[in-house]
Amino acid sequence: MSKTRESITGYVGPMFAQKTLLMLHEISAAEATGRYVLLFKPDIDDRYSKNIVRSRAGGKHKATPVDVNHPETIYDILNKRRLPIDIIAFDEIQFFKPEVVKVIRDITQSGIQVVYSGLNRNYRGDSFSPTIEKILPLTTHLTVAEAKCMFPLNGNHRLCGADATMTQRLINGQPDSYKSPTVIIEKPGTSITYEARCLEHWIVPDLPQNRKINHHPYS
Ligand SMILES: [Zn+2]
Repeated sequence: MSKTRESITGYVGPMFAQKTLLMLHEISAAEATGRYVLLFKPDIDDRYSKNIVRSRAGGKHKATPVDVNHPETIYDILNKRRLPIDIIAFDEIQFFKPEVVKVIRDITQSGIQVVYSGLNRNYRGDSFSPTIEKILPLTTHLTVAEAKCMFPLNGNHRLCGADATMTQRLINGQPDSYKSPTVIIEKPGTSITYEARCLEHWIVPDLPQNRKINHHPYS
């Protein structure tokens, strides 16, 4: 048996960091050279449409929705497929149950490359999920993408614009508490929005004392 080289490429970062766009770019470059790509997405993410992955920054690709609680259904999908596969891609990998990591290992051991994009941290600044913790050490090509801080500066129409590594959650325009759940559903009368923020403008009420960042340690 010939030894295959494991190739897992990951694009992680906060929201608005164009992670999906980076992944779609990699997919289209592969397809341009005749590679066959299969893209999976969580069945819970209906932001745009069920069978398409679309980047906020433009770009789209057809995708197969997968039940996040049963990533092993991917084996059935692969077994039924007639065309060869060179690359299997996952959008929003953080939403899948950790069993997806075993599926990914099996895929790479059969010589297929894996590409994924996802949130590395939740709005609290903590690891988003056990899945992201398990896939990061296996990733052979990792890009940590940054966004630009969307904090509005007083007195003019500009936003902060500094490199943003954090995702800010706002409930009716106000920073959400550290104690809220990681994934929440919008209720009538409540608006949930997200912004990319730099560390200085990332605000999480009830952040545990040992997690607080001293912005001016030497002043
Ligand atoms: Zn900022």
